[in-house]
Amino acid sequence: MAVNGRIALIAHDQKKDEMVAFAKAHQALLQSRSIVATGTTGGRVLDACPTLDVTRLKSGPLGGDQQIGAMIATGEVSMLIFLVDPLSALPHDVDVKALMRLATVYDIPMALNRASAEILVKTLD
Ligand code: PGA
Repeated sequence: MAVNGRIALIAHDQKKDEMVAFAKAHQALLQSRSIVATGTTGGRVLDACPTLDVTRLKSGPLGGDQQIGAMIATGEVSMLIFLVDPLSALPHDVDVKALMRLATVYDIPMALNRASAEILVKTLD
């Protein structure tokens, strides 16, 4: 599976530390990639890995998830790493469903948890 476009990173609530750990662990594979991320997630990843090419969009609740959805629809994002927090409150639910739907429609690889993200990132070499 060749993934040549941008990689989108989103982490909800208590999953942000996990996203930072994921980005640090795979910094070498992510280094040559163009990354987009929701605002807070992107900020945390850049703090930990300042050399990564991360474009920060709006924060998720302010539309960042929808910006990434639009980029999936226009072919500008070709892999989605979306660490959802299943223990957080329901308000994120619509965003999760919307992105799952678009990733399915446009048939891009999508990980909703760390274990799946670990598998996807290994396809990037
Ligand atoms: P954030 O957005 O990275 O700005 O926190 C993620 C989200 O809550 O959807």
